[in-house]
Amino acid sequence: MIYKRSSALFAEAQKYIPGGVNSPVRAFKAVGGDPIFVKEAKGAYLYDEDGNRLIDYIASWGPLILGHAYGPVIEAVIDKAKKGTSFGMPTQIETELARLAVSMVPNIDKIRFVNSGTEACMSAIRLARGYTKRDKIIKFAGCYHGHSDSFLIQAGSGAVTFGSPNSPGVTQGTAKDTLLAKYNDLESVRELIRANQGEIAAVIIEPIAGNMGCIVPSEDFIKGLRKLCTEEGVLLIFDEVMTGFRLGRGGAQEALGIDADILCFGKVIGGGLPVGAFAARAEIMSYLAPEGPVYQAGTLSGNPLAMAAGLAMLTELNNRPEVFKSLEDKTAYLHEGFDKVLKDKGVPYRINRYGSMMSVHFTEGPVVDFETSAKGNNETFKKFFHGMLDQGVYLPPSAFESYFLNDALSYSDLDATIEALDKIDL
Ligand code: PMP
Repeated sequence: MIYKRSSALFAEAQKYIPGGVNSPVRAFKAVGGDPIFVKEAKGAYLYDEDGNRLIDYIASWGPLILGHAYGPVIEAVIDKAKKGTSFGMPTQIETELARLAVSMVPNIDKIRFVNSGTEACMSAIRLARGYTKRDKIIKFAGCYHGHSDSFLIQAGSGAVTFGSPNSPGVTQGTAKDTLLAKYNDLESVRELIRANQGEIAAVIIEPIAGNMGCIVPSEDFIKGLRKLCTEEGVLLIFDEVMTGFRLGRGGAQEALGIDADILCFGKVIGGGLPVGAFAARAEIMSYLAPEGPVYQAGTLSGNPLAMAAGLAMLTELNNRPEVFKSLEDKTAYLHEGFDKVLKDKGVPYRINRYGSMMSVHFTEGPVVDFETSAKGNNETFKKFFHGMLDQGVYLPPSAFESYFLNDALSYSDLDATIEALDKIDL
């Protein structure tokens, strides 16, 4: 396929936008080459500025679970837009979306809407700190919770000491309050809690990780984490920005059979418009302003267009829960197809999958945490990515990102994708 116009648009964008993009992973840094500029999209397909049609496996990084430009969502947004785009005053539709979200996720009483997953996670830890009156948090290496300072932290010199900033601009002062544990390693959490007794407000985790590829927690690990947090008076925060309303009505909590204390949402809950949310039982949420002392706010929070998109999306999912099974079946089909082809090619690989999230890693051993995910061969990944792109299949442009299948994908799209993989020389 030819991507001439995309390249020209990228060159122009770089004159005015740092790196030509408004979010780094879009720039193809990990795989090389110029990013594709999208003109429009419908269902499972992206149509780019060169007139190519691409089968889409990222669905805007998760939100578009029912496919692009989904009728009921689009109609709801258009209808709302005609009545005004923002008021900075309460609207009934905020309560409607809140009521529906709360009814779909059993252990939450109240929810606060924000504008992104970043804001949801940032606010969730502030709430946890305010509620527990403790300062430190534990996160897991390889989990992403948005770009707020407290999360842009890497492991420091010793596992039981504090983290260090992994971006200039994040201060040591902030870094000292974020401790890094290893995913799927309960002992690493236990050690941090032991070394910081009575100081940990919360442990935040992607219950099914999607930011180091798709990584599934072992049952012992995730159940043990819940138990440990309860014993230590530490709040367990599930960052369900990816998994919420994707893995089922009740997200990863329902899939894993575990209740967290605070939930973070994003992506699907906004139906493709900028929405994030955090939620908990009433007792915790009552700490939030204006009811309680923990401050949090937003001029465009609960924006009517965003609420209309979210409400249309969640209403569809709530009324048609069979969608989750259909998505899982499609993802399993792709997984099996890729398996067959990659086995024949004789290249070392691992495919991780949970529900409609999946990732392909070119490595020998199991991929269970950041370290094992980082062992993947990026040269092979690049050939794989560009080989697929050349045949009109748009996969995540980094081995650390998960696929997000959407329900508009047909089995013939999946077959075409598997055939495309067969044609690549890895
Ligand atoms: N948490 C998780 C698990 C995410 O995957 C992301 C974004 N990919 C975020 C938080 C941040 O969300 P946003 O990009 O909407 O700020």
